[in-house]
Amino acid sequence: MLRTVLTCFTVLLFQAGSAAQVSDSVWPIHSPDRPHPQDVTPGSQPGAAPSDAIILFNGKTTNGWQTTIGGPALWTVHDGVLEVKPGSGDIETVQKFGDCQLHVEWAEPPSSKADDDDEGNSGVILMGLFEVQVLDSYHRQVPIYADGMGGAIYGQYPPLVNASLPPGAWQSYDILFRRPRFDSSGALLRAARITVLQNGILVQDAVRPTGSTSWFDRAPYIDLGDQLPLVLQDHFSSVQFRNIWVRPLPPEPEPLPPRFVVDLKPSEADLQSFIGEYAEGPVILKIAAAEHGLVAQLGQDYQGKYYGFSWPLHLIDKDSFLGILPDGGLPLHLGFVRDDKGAVTSAVVHQAGAFRSFARKP
Ligand code: MG
Repeated sequence: MLRTVLTCFTVLLFQAGSAAQVSDSVWPIHSPDRPHPQDVTPGSQPGAAPSDAIILFNGKTTNGWQTTIGGPALWTVHDGVLEVKPGSGDIETVQKFGDCQLHVEWAEPPSSKADDDDEGNSGVILMGLFEVQVLDSYHRQVPIYADGMGGAIYGQYPPLVNASLPPGAWQSYDILFRRPRFDSSGALLRAARITVLQNGILVQDAVRPTGSTSWFDRAPYIDLGDQLPLVLQDHFSSVQFRNIWVRPLPPEPEPLPPRFVVDLKPSEADLQSFIGEYAEGPVILKIAAAEHGLVAQLGQDYQGKYYGFSWPLHLIDKDSFLGILPDGGLPLHLGFVRDDKGAVTSAVVHQAGAFRSFARKP
């Protein structure tokens, strides 16, 4: 089952595609009317907060932080550092963030032990959902799976290289985060995107999480809002933090609609004949009416609720549709099969060279 779930959400990940920068197509080249970016004074040294940053920890207090279950943050502040108080719980910012640039410095306990696969475990958890792992991974002396080591998007992406420093040394994460986007029904339109530099070295290159962080589980995307607190993890280890700041980022330019669409107008009767649910094992294809015509969702149930990606469908031939994601992600070709009485009995999805057949559910 785990493999099936993994396969499905891995497929969904590919379907998210890449979010190309589209703003260039809005402005003529070298347009004198295009606004210039505002001035920002860089920090005087690497990692120092720039002038427009929100300081989340300045070395003095836990003001602005609370436990994730409510109540004051119980981590200790001493000598300019914020130290995990093991067993006191994860802490989160009172302020909520979505798209952001984040800087965090952290140090492993000097007494790190090689035989403990949890040694120095903590985490920087974006929106409380996507964990950039903190762990003693210097020379991989803590034995753990690759997608659980320091610099990993936990459970999903190992770091490109192991840029870890020894226990006791101060390390840094510079993180660029783009939150996931959902439509009004909660269907995922665009996966999150995370870039991480560890100690100035690229370890995560605009990766797209398959869903929120989970342990031995492939959790889907769930729409919990545009902004959520930033969480630091208490994993029973006295990891230290300092110099934490964040710059909320403006949203990326809205994707342009597809440049070309062969959009035939099906009859209302034809449209109605496609609407319904189709299944291939645990994977469910839903065809539903939408403002412009039809929409296809491809996903599956997770803990009793359905989650899926959503494609607006454009009729390109009789019983044949093209599904195009607004941000240029992988398109989907969908064809319906009818019996000799004209009733739709199955749907065939063609994507990235693979065909999948979905039987209509009664
Ligand atoms: Mg962790």
